[in-house]
Amino acid sequence: MSTVAAGAIGRLEKKLRVSAELVFDTGWRIGSGRAGQTSDLGVLLDAAGRPVLPGSSLKGRLRNTCESLASALGLTACLLNHDASGVRCVSDVSWFSRVREAHRDAITQGVQAQLDWINNNTCHVCRLFGSPVQAARLRCADGMLKTSPLGLIRVRDGVVLDRDSHTAVDELKYDYECVSPETRFDLVIDVHNPAPEDEALLGAAIFEWAAGSSLGGFTSRGLGRFHLEQIEVRGTDFSDPAQRKQYLLGRTPQDRLQPLGDWQAYFQDKIDQRLSSIRG
Ligand SMILES: [Zn+2]
Repeated sequence: MSTVAAGAIGRLEKKLRVSAELVFDTGWRIGSGRAGQTSDLGVLLDAAGRPVLPGSSLKGRLRNTCESLASALGLTACLLNHDASGVRCVSDVSWFSRVREAHRDAITQGVQAQLDWINNNTCHVCRLFGSPVQAARLRCADGMLKTSPLGLIRVRDGVVLDRDSHTAVDELKYDYECVSPETRFDLVIDVHNPAPEDEALLGAAIFEWAAGSSLGGFTSRGLGRFHLEQIEVRGTDFSDPAQRKQYLLGRTPQDRLQPLGDWQAYFQDKIDQRLSSIRG
């Protein structure tokens, strides 16, 4: 299967970067899938024993947030299920199998025909987060731990509840690891060649995360609450020669991008533009 690279024809023309501090308000856990050193269910740690916040977990959660906000912005979200959402999108494997032939035809008609076909057959969320026929344009880096890693891992007791009586089943007690509240990570989200609707959707998600959301396992038990602080937006637009030059000559990743001012004003504007375009 042919996959179209990020951007119109793979070329970087614009870039948007959101950076922030992600602060956990409660304990949290992203499971390792194995037993921990002192518990039945371990948390994901790096080689130095520090808790890890993988970019894939952040991106998955951001995708969920965008899915839940899309309709308020007049945007489509397939939820990876055409039957449930009613949205035609190639990310639903069973729906894609029905249109695979048309996709093959579009590929033979050149890049523009292929891109048009993809846009007509991909929901707005998958255009940003990627689909089987198009690379993601949004990337989340792994979180960079800002807190001292000493003493961060705690062990809690869990019980298996009897479904009928809602009481603990005595012999089915277990314990699990979680990471302490107040853990802080640096967060970086990059979008290549964002369309106006991408910025409105991402902006709405950043507003939600700034107010507070949840991430990781056992959120129904109150784990994983977080919010964002120190939010910054930066970007570059290669159609402006000065910005192109700064991008090429900047000494640090942050230096290469222009500050875009107050994040709330920036995204408020994108969201307002989107809302007035659907009203009109
Ligand atoms: Zn989709």
